[in-house]
Amino acid sequence: MISKIFTSEELNQVQSLIAHASQIVILSHMSPDGDAMGSSLGFRHWIKGCMPEKEVTNIVPNSFPSFLHWMPGAKDIVVYEQQSEEANRKMQEADLIICTDFNEPKRIGSVGTILVERINAGTPCIVIDHHIVAAEKSIVHQTLAFVRPQSPSASELVYRLIVACQETSNQMCPINLDAATCLYTGMMTDTGNFSFNSNYAEMYEIIANLVRLGVNKDQCYNQTFNAYTADRMRLMGYCLEKKMRIFPEYHLAFIYLSRRELYRFNFQSGDAEGIVNLPLQIKDVYYSCFMREDKVSPSEVELAGGSKIKVKISMRSQGNRPVNTFCHDIFGGGGHMNASGGEYYGSLTEAAQRFIESYSKYCKRD
Ligand code: 5GP
Ligand code: MN
Repeated sequence: MISKIFTSEELNQVQSLIAHASQIVILSHMSPDGDAMGSSLGFRHWIKGCMPEKEVTNIVPNSFPSFLHWMPGAKDIVVYEQQSEEANRKMQEADLIICTDFNEPKRIGSVGTILVERINAGTPCIVIDHHIVAAEKSIVHQTLAFVRPQSPSASELVYRLIVACQETSNQMCPINLDAATCLYTGMMTDTGNFSFNSNYAEMYEIIANLVRLGVNKDQCYNQTFNAYTADRMRLMGYCLEKKMRIFPEYHLAFIYLSRRELYRFNFQSGDAEGIVNLPLQIKDVYYSCFMREDKVSPSEVELAGGSKIKVKISMRSQGNRPVNTFCHDIFGGGGHMNASGGEYYGSLTEAAQRFIESYSKYCKRD
């Protein structure tokens, strides 16, 4: 039995909003990862499966990595940075907006400004997410929001919401294979293939249900994780051999890469995914930080405040060693206890310096 986490009133509200909408936009966050893609595509496949007459559009702010191109429906996603006119039109026409895997407008760059405008103009909005965000930065108070930080992935929450809706209304149909495949993939990627945040039985009951629906979990794994380019593999080797610094007394590893280094390895979006996890494979390394220099994309110009470059920070940890407070305090970011990130609008050297000056205040020596 999967426990119930939504009230019947909440489920009625979700069903009513979907039933009354004809043009739905589903948004997910910048630099979409497997969970952003899985939760938003999964939601769309389910609505389309139930109510094919509705127009449902997935929009993400910028491009997603090539190892997620295989996901069902990925080719139909409207990428704001490449199709801003279409994305703008869809946002204006939408009579329901669904946000998955984020609840802070900042996480979707300039699409966030449009989202806030639309919400203020009265467009209904459903939010389903697992990130803790300070109240003043979040849209939860103006929307029908389901934010459950204890959930390992937004995809799992979408699964639970779909199944609960289906159980309470005969208008809502069961989850279909495309939705199931997307949701499984989000659950898989946000738990590192079930190697963290994954120690509770209900997750495996959900997986069993998804496999019964026809999900080929081995194929999802292979298509996602065994799909590196040779350049990406070499970049990983370079990071480990030439760039990784270890601070043994703080159980910490630190890697940073300049744009010039990334260029050398023909860097493509998504190639850095997973590099931050590698040092955690070393015995007695419990914290890892990875930084890379990036250019400020058109959808972030307002945030960047004049800077043309930014540094993307990723942190990971093991056990009771929060990195979200570190990312929040030092880099204005946040995230989960063991997986967080942030952005620094300035040079790589400055960002690295900030990190070096701060880590001893946040990392435990034990
Ligand atoms: P990643 O290191 O994979 O980019 O991000 C890991 C997690 O950190 C994300 O799931 C998200 O919760 C959080 N995160 C990453 N970047 C940012 C950021 O710039 N701001 C905030 N608030 N959270 C972030
Ligand atoms: Mn997520």
